[in-house]
Amino acid sequence: MSEKTIFKKIIDGEIPADVIYEDDQCLVFRDINAQAPTHVLVIPKKEIATIDDLADEDAKLMGHLWIVVRDVAKQLGLTDGYRVIVNCKEDGGQEVPHIHLHILGGKRIGKMVSG
Ligand code: 5GP
Repeated sequence: MSEKTIFKKIIDGEIPADVIYEDDQCLVFRDINAQAPTHVLVIPKKEIATIDDLADEDAKLMGHLWIVVRDVAKQLGLTDGYRVIVNCKEDGGQEVPHIHLHILGGKRIGKMVSG
């Protein structure tokens, strides 16, 4: 059995997080190293490492995450817009192998992602 990811530990309540939304399928919490005035992470409770590990049957779950993005953005008052980023594996800059959507807002986000 491979070691739990940091996000699985947050899901299991083993380490604290600033959770702003939770339902039976997902969890939303503030990023510990915010890159914008508002920076939260939307993660499924199901352990899926990367986009490449998605199964066809995960389509409904992924659709649900987008609905949660919409609702959380509203809850956070991001009425002027925001950016959603999903990094995939090494070349995409993914550090935590548990699929997650970044929501960044509260300022004008630059057009290009550097690197
Ligand atoms: P990635 O680079 O994998 O797309 O993004 C991982 C994100 O998780 C990073 O923005 C990082 O700051 C955040 N992160 C890593 N460890 C923790 C943690 O223990 N708690 C919280 N809230 N965020 C974390």
